[in-house]
Amino acid sequence: MASTEQSGSSENFHTPAPSGSEQSGARWGPQHAGARELAELYSPGKRCQEWISVLLCFTLMAFNFCYLVTYFHLGHSWYILLGIVAGILTADFASGLVHWGADTWGSVDLPIVGKAFIRPFREHHIDPTAITRHDFIETNGDNCMLTIVPLANMAANFLMLSPAEIYRNYPWNCYVFALAIFVTLTNQIHKWSHTYFGLPRWVVLLQDCHIILPRKHHRVHHVAPRETYFCITTGWLNYPLEKLGFWRNLEDLIQSLTGEKPRSDDLRWAHKTK
Ligand SMILES: [Zn+2]
Ligand SMILES: [Zn+2]
Repeated sequence: MASTEQSGSSENFHTPAPSGSEQSGARWGPQHAGARELAELYSPGKRCQEWISVLLCFTLMAFNFCYLVTYFHLGHSWYILLGIVAGILTADFASGLVHWGADTWGSVDLPIVGKAFIRPFREHHIDPTAITRHDFIETNGDNCMLTIVPLANMAANFLMLSPAEIYRNYPWNCYVFALAIFVTLTNQIHKWSHTYFGLPRWVVLLQDCHIILPRKHHRVHHVAPRETYFCITTGWLNYPLEKLGFWRNLEDLIQSLTGEKPRSDDLRWAHKTK
């Protein structure tokens, strides 16, 4: 599956993985000892949680979309546009925050969250092509789970509030809906940023226009020690956050308060040889 990645200048997944007798010492990819162990930790229970999340999320999305179309009013046009842009920016920042948190802190050994939610981040760093082999459910299950509560709250409001109240809340609902759509799509967009062959033309166009995360842009994150460019929805905030030293400052603050070293678990998995 290395064919889904283009060669580049950074280390690890841009260098061919050793094979055959050297398999246990692979530097990256599906043959890496840590990657194989992490892939085996994907359980049927986790799969079930992902299926339920996807079904609930897309049902609620369709329901809310019908109500948004029903209550559409031309006078709301500018609010809709503003809501969409603000929703995308919030989603991009949230993707960075969650990605940074899971990459930098915690461990696969933590009860419940370790295997269910930190494991995929560790696997992605030592086998970045694994995501291109994940199906729709595994790719999108966790992000769908994050948007269920706000989408259910919006659906309940549509059912219980008066038309006048729904009209008044319309701009806020546009913001929440755009945010939910982009949070839900984030890992699908991330998967596309690792896919170099067979992408639909419209996806490549969206990447080239930087409306979704471009492939070249995301490669910056995968250069060891993977300490920058965490935003993976559109990547719009990566440059300003890097210029501000946002992630570095946050890590220094947490390290000074807790004594924890950033990325120690990530490094442990990367160096695993058996
Ligand atoms: Zn990462
Ligand atoms: Zn990635």
